[in-house]
Amino acid sequence: MHVGRDQAAGRLARARGFAKVPGVSDVAQHIATSSVTRAMDVIGDRWAVLIMRDAFQGARRFEEFVERSGATRATLANRLRALVQQGLLERVRYSSSPPRFEYRLTRRGRDLFPVALAAWRWERRWAPRSGSVPAQLRHVRCGHATRPRLVCAACGGELDVRRTLLRSRASARPVAPARPALRRLSPSTAVSHRGSSEEFTYVADVVGDRWMPLIVSAAFFGQRRFEDIQASLGIASNILTHRLGHLVGLEILERRSYSRRPVRREYRLTRKGRDLFPYAIALMAWGDRWLGGRGQATALLYHADCGERLVPAVRCSHCGDELAIDDVAFRRASASRRRPGKEDPRAHDTR
Ligand SMILES: [Zn+2]
Ligand SMILES: [Zn+2]
Repeated sequence: MHVGRDQAAGRLARARGFAKVPGVSDVAQHIATSSVTRAMDVIGDRWAVLIMRDAFQGARRFEEFVERSGATRATLANRLRALVQQGLLERVRYSSSPPRFEYRLTRRGRDLFPVALAAWRWERRWAPRSGSVPAQLRHVRCGHATRPRLVCAACGGELDVRRTLLRSRASARPVAPARPALRRLSPSTAVSHRGSSEEFTYVADVVGDRWMPLIVSAAFFGQRRFEDIQASLGIASNILTHRLGHLVGLEILERRSYSRRPVRREYRLTRKGRDLFPYAIALMAWGDRWLGGRGQATALLYHADCGERLVPAVRCSHCGDELAIDDVAFRRASASRRRPGKEDPRAHDTR
């Protein structure tokens, strides 16, 4: 992986400054110009997130995607086509008579691997009994079960939103609040793909709607109050109320009273919510590399512990080496020969 060689970071850090655009808060601009927001425009549809997850876990053929994602055939065909257009997958013929095609990750798609690992790590931690999350990840090179650790590429320290510095820098042009192109998320679709009897949260539940990752981003940027989030995102209050309620329901945010008279409440990230930070950072790094994100961003993130630009690396929890896409194997729970109760206890705790 080619993270950690960002020579421009030093120059950018030195060139940082403030560009105040009237009427738009700094946080609003940071969110609007962030590579996370940009990346979400490419894969920020819950089906796209699920398809990419399945592609990293070995799915190639249409039927495999159908089976694993639970999407209808029409939806799946539509999303696969979009992902091919975005350059994340390519459609390759593997048989000529009859003509049959499969979907393979492109270089651009493969480079989302740290994002996929971050998602797996998060789901493994917060949805430990879900059958659709592979129970184990094996580092083929060292031969051990691994829990990917997302760390600072410069110093190897953990990625933690509380140990992150945000520095504004001059922006080339004014940017309006981020406005998602798609806003569909009815309460019914929000739960339907989780299965009525399941209590798990998938990353797709959080990022698969265009507003929710922006609200989580606002929380990462320190925004807690309804009015502040509303102003930053330019979001209608009824939509914000609904999405905040949903994020509280998913236990990503929690409501806390900060004033009794009048009653005022704010929204804070829970541990589970803060634990999405490595995922967001991995997504940001991908957006920087493939979507020209860094040049546009009005703020850059630095690791408080070492002072370097925050660039993620994914390391094996067992041997400490960097995890590359061809060096790991997912083991699906259904394929496991283990008996219930004999599962490796280490697989449950991903920290
Ligand atoms: Zn560091
Ligand atoms: Zn290893």
